[in-house]
Amino acid sequence: MYIDSHCHLDFSVFDDSRDALMNTCIEAGVEGFLIPSTTKTSWAKVAELANRYPQWRVAYGLHPYFLETASIADIDRLAEQCELHGALAIGEIGLDCWPKAIALDKQSLFFSRQLIVARDLGLPVIVHARKSYDLVIKAVREARFTSGGVIHAFNGSIEQANRLRGLGFLLGIGGTVTYPRAKKAQAVLAQLDDAAFVLETDSPDMPLCGFQGALNTPLSIPMIARCVATIRKSSVDDIARQTNKNLLSTFPKWYKDTL
Ligand SMILES: [Zn+2]
Repeated sequence: MYIDSHCHLDFSVFDDSRDALMNTCIEAGVEGFLIPSTTKTSWAKVAELANRYPQWRVAYGLHPYFLETASIADIDRLAEQCELHGALAIGEIGLDCWPKAIALDKQSLFFSRQLIVARDLGLPVIVHARKSYDLVIKAVREARFTSGGVIHAFNGSIEQANRLRGLGFLLGIGGTVTYPRAKKAQAVLAQLDDAAFVLETDSPDMPLCGFQGALNTPLSIPMIARCVATIRKSSVDDIARQTNKNLLSTFPKWYKDTL
């Protein structure tokens, strides 16, 4: 059985195909889904869909790339939303240093405040970090946040991986490692401990090598697992088993329900 630790199946691009896609995924052995939210307006839809699909586990948060219209009052609502709707984690939160992202001051304020909400609720976090690992580490330390979580789409160095692991984070491994040119990411993946990482697609984004331009879905997870197994000289079954174990140890609330 496979779990997709990061997919945006709530996005409207899946509205017409979601039921069929869920059936196809389950038939293909992809049977667990962690859905992070992006904006406050998406929370209600994510909660409603989580009621419909028992395989979904969800997180609520304010994504750093979509903070344009967000206000601090939204963070006050976040704790309430998590408690009312049984969130597994807070996310997707983080820091994005891409040139097109919004001002870092606002991102930092929202990231820190959401880390504090997660800390107070004892929830792990799902972190979006683009060119910002060192800033994320600093913010996590300053917030005295210790519940860990996942650094989604990790593509840093082995040193950054080790520092993030030291703070209790798993590293999300997705389609990037399927590209032959991703030599650095593959080398880092080969060096990680078995307990360090989980599999993710970031659907509908981040298509695999050979599928550029196509809509990405959690059906890519077995292909990512095969690629990871080759890079780590392991078996697909071992990769699936170990990454599920890693995920469930970091998100203990997942155990309360049957997978
Ligand atoms: Zn995402």
